[in-house]
Amino acid sequence: MRWKLRRCVECGEYTLRDKCPLCGGEVRAPHPAKFSLDDKYLFYRVRAIRQSRH
Ligand SMILES: [Zn+2]
Repeated sequence: MRWKLRRCVECGEYTLRDKCPLCGGEVRAPHPAKFSLDDKYLFYRVRAIRQSRH
């Protein structure tokens, strides 16, 4: 998908537009780039735990 789901910082409404259709507030992506970085470390941690148990 080229478009991403965004969420209004004011009312929490999900939208695909640049502004909230309900209140016209600012929208941001629910998952910022920083989150994927942390998720990457979490992936390695989980894999390490699984290998230690095998
Ligand atoms: Zn809103």
